[in-house]
Amino acid sequence: MVKETKYYDILGVKPNCTTDELKKAYRKLALKYHPDKNPNEGEKFKMISQAYEVLSTPEKRQIYDEGGEQALKEGGSGSGGFSSPMDIFDMFFSGGFGSRGGGRRRERRGKNIVHSLGVSLEELYNGCIRKLSVEKNVTCEKCEGRGGKKGSVQSCPTCGGNGVQIQVQQFTPGVIHQIQTVCSECKGEGERIKPQDRCKVCAGHKVVREKKILEVQVDKGMTDGQKIAFSGEGNHEPGLEPGDIIIVLEEKEHPVFRRSGSDLILLMDLQLVEALCGYQKVIHTLDGRDLVITAIPGEVTRHKELKCILGEGMPQYKNPFEKGRLIIQFSVIFPTTLPPELIPRLEACLPPRTEQIIPDNAEEVTMYEMNPEEEARKRSSQYRNAYDEDDQGVPSRVQCATH
Ligand SMILES: [Zn+2]
Ligand SMILES: [Zn+2]
Repeated sequence: MVKETKYYDILGVKPNCTTDELKKAYRKLALKYHPDKNPNEGEKFKMISQAYEVLSTPEKRQIYDEGGEQALKEGGSGSGGFSSPMDIFDMFFSGGFGSRGGGRRRERRGKNIVHSLGVSLEELYNGCIRKLSVEKNVTCEKCEGRGGKKGSVQSCPTCGGNGVQIQVQQFTPGVIHQIQTVCSECKGEGERIKPQDRCKVCAGHKVVREKKILEVQVDKGMTDGQKIAFSGEGNHEPGLEPGDIIIVLEEKEHPVFRRSGSDLILLMDLQLVEALCGYQKVIHTLDGRDLVITAIPGEVTRHKELKCILGEGMPQYKNPFEKGRLIIQFSVIFPTTLPPELIPRLEACLPPRTEQIIPDNAEEVTMYEMNPEEEARKRSSQYRNAYDEDDQGVPSRVQCATH
């Protein structure tokens, strides 16, 4: 049992989740709450980033699981501080494209633009081309990225061209901090253009917004979370190489099939009569074919039984003629009651009962319906409440919370 679940709750995962589940949860939330898309959710974006940073680092996760947030603060993790949410985001989404490691890469390249693209299982099976409209900054052509007429750029008078200002702040009496901040006048660029000399097209910003339609090639067998990079198609920033546009595929849930690696899983309901007496069923494939499966009379299908069809799973990425299996899990639907007059006839055709000898002094007891999931849910919410009360100094009720 972990001490606190806050970070897990932020990411919407269970405390026993795998690294993959963690990555997936972070990916979804980070794309959703990124300041580019959700400028008002900065705090939420930060929380997601911190939770991911802790839980994705095995040592930090262990400290957190054992001692909660307090233990992290107490320095088990070095300074106990967090990386900037943007750095975490950039590292996560540019991993694998020769990222230059944490934060420093922006000195040489413009920002990457990360977009998620929802794709159906059919699209991942068959492959497709999707058009995506992306907005980005490009160097202003009119002023060739200078922001104004030639020779109109001056050193910023506020910061003397350094791009930073030193501020003195007093948080607590007697403790004075010198804080270096980005110059508010020139936004850290160290230079300034007189208003009358500014380029009319970009208003002195050196870049303009441009809409671009990207054609994203989704190949057969690509997977949820896979990245497709458009190198050099990202934002232009003055004096830097352009960044990349990175498209992250997000597999949509399918009403019929679930994917598990290269296999597809299909849940199939069978009536009791079909399970006992045989059936024929049609499966509509992701590329529009119909498959017929048959159980001949005499063949019994058990509840939860698994069968598979070879070569009818997902195609392999870059080797699409190789396909995984289609796994069928049968679920037998039992009638809830039977007409009593039917029982003798039914009994006559089923395998006989095993005989039961009831001792004279046996006690007759009653059975009740039960639902273990419901009970587990109740128990865990009680457990959490007990902890909440604990925080406020109210005695814990864990010990007596059984019933
Ligand atoms: Zn300045
Ligand atoms: Zn311009």
